[in-house]
Amino acid sequence: MKLLEGKVALVTGASRGIGRGIAFKLAEQGANIAFTYLSSVEKGTALENELKALGIKAKGYQSDAANFKAADELVTAVVTEFGTIDILVNNAGITRDTLLMRMSEDQWDQVINANLKSVFNMTKAVQRPMLKQRKGSIINMSSVVGVKGNAGQSNYAASKAGIIGFSKSVALELGSRNIRCNAIAPGFIETEMTGALDPKVVEQWREAIPLKRGGTAEDVANLALFLASDLSAYITGQTINVCGGMLT
Ligand code: NAP
Repeated sequence: MKLLEGKVALVTGASRGIGRGIAFKLAEQGANIAFTYLSSVEKGTALENELKALGIKAKGYQSDAANFKAADELVTAVVTEFGTIDILVNNAGITRDTLLMRMSEDQWDQVINANLKSVFNMTKAVQRPMLKQRKGSIINMSSVVGVKGNAGQSNYAASKAGIIGFSKSVALELGSRNIRCNAIAPGFIETEMTGALDPKVVEQWREAIPLKRGGTAEDVANLALFLASDLSAYITGQTINVCGGMLT
């Protein structure tokens, strides 16, 4: 018996990187997968086909998680297509890194909207089906940067710290309805997001990590699978680091 047989998962920002890894991991364990992307239509179509080849139901949606109305319409469309939503993974996120001195209002707003407001939009919308069925697991992608801070990422760190406070509050509000909400705080995971960094900086990051390597999307997806499944039935309101010991 697979861990998520017959469950429905909605994963935001799954066209690449960590979201893509999570979509595959949940699908391998039997979940039907609805996923989103912002602009990567080709990658989205390819992922939909690859997921279907695993023998589960899969559908990609081009949808902006930062847009309140679009998030609400997305959840309605997914429930119509899949019947319900058991697992929500709020993974979509962006960076607009620069020192505070140079940060524009637009760089601040873009990151807060894509990373934090999106989590509010999606969680609020998914409450309806989860309250109806009196169960659900919500997994929010934070970052060690949200716990620790990082020079040049004040907008990103604020959004990721906000996700932790939001997740704890939702866990307290919805625990009595058997809806769990946890946050994942990845460290340095090698994806397109980190691919933009200077190779010398990347080498320094790797050297500073106790496990001496960057993380993979699969490292994060393994934790997402645990939090999505009943193996974590008594875990809510927590932030779990996946960082190779970086934040220790
Ligand atoms: P990535 O490779 O840049 O992928 C980001 C994904 O989010 C893409 O699928 C993108 O879609 C989607 N997306 C962006 N804005 C969106 C929006 N407004 N609505 C819907 N989808 C949107 O990023 P990643 O490295 O996999 O990171 C995934 C998550 O983990 C992010 O929340 C990130 O902050 C967090 N994280 C990453 C690291 C790391 O080291 N990589 C560390 C800690 C936390 P398109 O392809 O269409 O643009």
